Amino acid sequence: MDKLQSTELLFEISHAGRRCHRLPECDVPATGDLLPRDTLADAAPPLPEVGEIDLVRHFVNLSTRNMSIDTNFYPLGSCTMKYNPKRHERLAALPGLANLHPLQSDESCQGMLQILWELQNILAEIAGLDAVSLQPAAGAQGELTALLVAAAYFRDRGEPRTRVLIPDSAHGTNPASAAIAGFDAVTVKSNARGLVDLDDLRAKLDERTAVFMITNPNTLGLFEGQIATITELIHARGGLVYLDGANMNAILGITRPGDFGADMMHYNVHKTFTGPHGAGGPGAGPIAVRRRLEPFLPAPVVLRDGDHFRLDYERPKSIGRVRSFFGNVGILLRGYFYIRTLGPNGLRQVSEQAVLNANYLLSRIKHAYEVPHGDRCMHEFVASARGLRRERRISAMDIAKRLLDFGYHAPTVYFPLVVPEALMIEPTETESKETLDRFADALLRIREEDADFLHEAPHTLGISRPDEVKAAKEPLLRWKS
Ligand SMILES: *Cc1c(COP(=O)(O)O)cnc(C)c1O
Repeated sequence: MDKLQSTELLFEISHAGRRCHRLPECDVPATGDLLPRDTLADAAPPLPEVGEIDLVRHFVNLSTRNMSIDTNFYPLGSCTMKYNPKRHERLAALPGLANLHPLQSDESCQGMLQILWELQNILAEIAGLDAVSLQPAAGAQGELTALLVAAAYFRDRGEPRTRVLIPDSAHGTNPASAAIAGFDAVTVKSNARGLVDLDDLRAKLDERTAVFMITNPNTLGLFEGQIATITELIHARGGLVYLDGANMNAILGITRPGDFGADMMHYNVHKTFTGPHGAGGPGAGPIAVRRRLEPFLPAPVVLRDGDHFRLDYERPKSIGRVRSFFGNVGILLRGYFYIRTLGPNGLRQVSEQAVLNANYLLSRIKHAYEVPHGDRCMHEFVASARGLRRERRISAMDIAKRLLDFGYHAPTVYFPLVVPEALMIEPTETESKETLDRFADALLRIREEDADFLHEAPHTLGISRPDEVKAAKEPLLRWKS
């Protein structure tokens, strides 16, 4: 019965007259109209009326129905679901930060501007690039912003370049961003080792190429060892190299995109730098670019004049704003605290530990699961249930669903597209050996389970296998008993 109760809406547990707090009668004379009459509502809004304990139980019960990094191991490949230090919440909530209004004058928010200015510089340094825009609100928007910057750059040079080349292992946002920015997205094949097929790249590369977008390490968890050759090829044809920085967690302080030839990149602050994420947001996707692209960055950027920080709008070649105000400042702050807490050596340790954890997990399961591209990986790896499916009718989806019974969030499945029946596993550096061992044990056990039993998984949750398309398009939000 308690379970049923917790599925009720707040409006359904409302009773007229119930309150959390009651204020004493007003003991001073009421003044007349403080607000113009025509701004007042005719009637009070129909808000739910509940007592405090019912309100608390309602929301606490709802919160326990979430799976989150604070409740469960969350090896969602490519998403870097690492622990979000709680200290960041306290710091971001400091009144001097949390109570600012974005329309305040620069003079009245110097502290915030200084943090944002420092963050611009730090992100440029980690990238090995020159200039940063903090505005984009997610990785995908960072991609779009950088491609618009590239388009403006080529327009400025009078070069009519129309194409963006993208490896077939890329995240779907890469071709989508290229298309929205007005380019033709052209796919470049991967070779048998899961890296860029150089012959295919050479065949497709010409003066129409504006940008080559690459994820490195790529979505198979492999570092692209040919990256120097690739960037030379692109630059020789006058194109720009874009680095999708979603996998920066593997290379912080070890190598820098600017050093291996990238001209622009985005960060996913909510992945690499512990902004809490999941369920679609919030995020922050700052971009870093080389000096010659800087004039085209979105305005404003934060500048420093002596001891004074200010927002600079005087940027005639800028592509303009891509996000209101200064971007998703709440997430940028958490990233800043994380980076400043760890420092350069700490960040390098993050990546070393992330790579170690992924390789440990890989070594624990690779005798039982096919891992098409490698004995070794960077911060994640992609296993395949192709053989299992053929021989025992067990799919990646069956394994993902069954993992829920063991209290794990499922890995990323059916991505990247170049691996059939893909299970993309990213443990991150914040997990203990015990957690990795328990997860490996669960995977090994599932491998031996009966196929029919797995087809029905999960067995222990309220819902087993919803029709995934229908559940998204026609969600049934109310509990029917
Ligand atoms: C997550 C991700 C993106 C998109 O980033 P968002 O912040 O989700 O918009 C792009 N590329 C790769 C490889 C990713 O993993």
